[in-house]
Amino acid sequence: MALSAVEGYHSTDMNLCVLGAQWGDEGKGKIVDLLTPQFSIVARYQGGHNAGHTVYVSGKKFVLHLIPSGILHPGIVCIIGNGVVVDPRALFKELDEIRQLGIDVTGRLLVSDKAHLILPYHRDLEVLAEARRGEQKIGTTSRGIGPAYEDKIGRRGIRMGDLADQSADGPLANAVRENVAARNRIVGNADLKWQDLLGELREAWTRLQPLVTDTSLYLHRSLVAGKRVMFEGAQGTLLDIDHGTYPFVTSSNSTAGGAATGLGVGPSAIGKVLGVAKAYTTRVGGGPLPTELFGDIGERLRETGQEYGASTGRPRRCGWYDAVAVRYAARVNGLTALAITKLDVLDGLKEIQVCTAYKCGSETLTEMPSDLVQLAACEPVYETMPGWTQPTAGVTDYNKLPDAAKKYIQKLEETSGVEAAIVSTGSDRAETILRSKLT
Ligand code: GDP
Repeated sequence: MALSAVEGYHSTDMNLCVLGAQWGDEGKGKIVDLLTPQFSIVARYQGGHNAGHTVYVSGKKFVLHLIPSGILHPGIVCIIGNGVVVDPRALFKELDEIRQLGIDVTGRLLVSDKAHLILPYHRDLEVLAEARRGEQKIGTTSRGIGPAYEDKIGRRGIRMGDLADQSADGPLANAVRENVAARNRIVGNADLKWQDLLGELREAWTRLQPLVTDTSLYLHRSLVAGKRVMFEGAQGTLLDIDHGTYPFVTSSNSTAGGAATGLGVGPSAIGKVLGVAKAYTTRVGGGPLPTELFGDIGERLRETGQEYGASTGRPRRCGWYDAVAVRYAARVNGLTALAITKLDVLDGLKEIQVCTAYKCGSETLTEMPSDLVQLAACEPVYETMPGWTQPTAGVTDYNKLPDAAKKYIQKLEETSGVEAAIVSTGSDRAETILRSKLT
């Protein structure tokens, strides 16, 4: 008998978790896509179709919201884990788009039978909740993700596997009827009919059934068989429901621990953890952003970096690199390396600032405060670095970077406490500097 469940696993140091080390939109999609050929499986562990991964392959643009970007590589198996919330309509739309691009997903996309569903009433409830918050709104994408997680925690949720129940008066029909009745009471109209929704779900099941399985078991067997797995996070560390700038956060654990609970694997299966961070900082929606820039430089970063949401088109708030935030991400995720993206966006700037601490009244903080009021009152303490005139855009060899850019990367490593194993200098896969092995 094996002494432990993980006895048969290959060295789990060969597995990698890739996640956002800032407020999301760090360019995880490109990094996951780039590293995918080293793995057999890419498994997404949290979030919903609010994530937007933009990937360019040979000049062709792909935007993926729910399906791991590993799907763009033939032969790679992609998993949507139990920690993800899935809107069947959004999944079908994405599957149709991928198919139109000539990518065959047959047998390569698996969805956890424990993943919770986002249903039309979740969207209605989210729109209402955001409207009620008025000025205090979180700036959610209003796709029903938060309310779907609320139903999961409230033990009212409907899971993928529940759709197999075809009985007229069984648990599925009852849950749909009760949840729609609750929605109608809260929203104050009867526009949604539970019978219509149940009919839609029955139809959806015929298409979903071949994809839905026990993905935890699948992963376990794959690990025993020596397959390498990449765990893919959405959003970013500072948006994590527990460790982010609560309440301006997402509804799930985007940090590394979420990979274990969101996929049903032990923490020991995770291996290495790569944090993706932009060479500056951005954030969408409300909540504090200590290094936010409001003038010309903020505007320049937004335009040069094309900082508009992949899912919603909303302009992102931009600021200098916040080493306090990334150092915090290094701690709560146990980062083993960083991927610094969008270095090229800083090309041509005379001077670049790096935030190394926060000044809060008479105190200087070197660690991220949990208290949002305190964080909102913090002023960044900057170190000024010289910029560079020779472009870094498209550079693939670290030694070919201008000296000032190398010094800048070194400063980010020192202040964040993690080595930058990858430096990205453009949106294409090829526009990347690989400095050291990750696994
Ligand atoms: P994600 O959700 O973390 O994958 O991030 P997004 O896809 O929302 O945003 C990243 C954007 O930056 C995408 O449009 C990428 O193509 C682009 N991008 C990624 N890396 C780089 C880079 O090094 N330089 C530039 N200029 N763009 C990049």
